[in-house]
Amino acid sequence: MTDLGGRIAENLARVRGRIADAARKSGREPGAITLLAVTKYVPAEIAAALVKAGCTELGESRPQELWSKAAELADPAVRWHLIGHLQRNKIRRTLPLVHLVQSIDSRRLLSALNDDAAELGLRPAVLLEVNISGEITKTGLPPGELKPLLEKAEKFSHVKICGLMGMASLTGGAAAARRDFAQLRRLRDRLAAICPADVSLSELSMGMSGDFEVAIDEGATIVRVGSALFEGVPL
Ligand SMILES: *Cc1c(COP(=O)(O)O)cnc(C)c1O
Repeated sequence: MTDLGGRIAENLARVRGRIADAARKSGREPGAITLLAVTKYVPAEIAAALVKAGCTELGESRPQELWSKAAELADPAVRWHLIGHLQRNKIRRTLPLVHLVQSIDSRRLLSALNDDAAELGLRPAVLLEVNISGEITKTGLPPGELKPLLEKAEKFSHVKICGLMGMASLTGGAAAARRDFAQLRRLRDRLAAICPADVSLSELSMGMSGDFEVAIDEGATIVRVGSALFEGVPL
């Protein structure tokens, strides 16, 4: 476990260093970017090693996995993010555990979450997930659905909409990723102008292990990094 802890701490320091370098190159403050460690590939003990090394923003793509890791870690310092699809029947159990639901991928889900949040007396923070690349394999709202949804944002007053989340195309490398991230940022800028006064779209969650530097250059405020944190860790 000490070796494992050391390796995780080294990986974390390296990723944080890359984030800081990318921020400075883009004329941004490193502190303006949140590292979300995606723990979906690893057991709870490795997630715990990350927390011990100082990373307390953790993300899971499956609600059940988030529930079980949150219970195993039982650490109030950890802020859990859901980054994958949330089924309606899992909303109630998930909401009390999460700091941010990044994966609102339909109007129906937003509406269901709003109803459940009202009953639970919560006001969860969420991001709207956008299918920027238009790939059929990708989840998320089509870009054109965002404007009508945000114009009616007062219908969802039990949810705090904080920004957008997106993933780059699987193919096309760094150039395609840059185009996709720039598109998400421009969409955010346009939508911010028409949002009701109490909705802010300040968060842009984009960039993963393979493309987070490009995402930071294009304005990401949250990068979601999994595999780069677990290099050399036997899984
Ligand atoms: C798995 C996952 C990540 C992390 O991917 P890596 O390439 O391992 O960094 C980021 N975002 C989402 C939505 C994911 O499902």
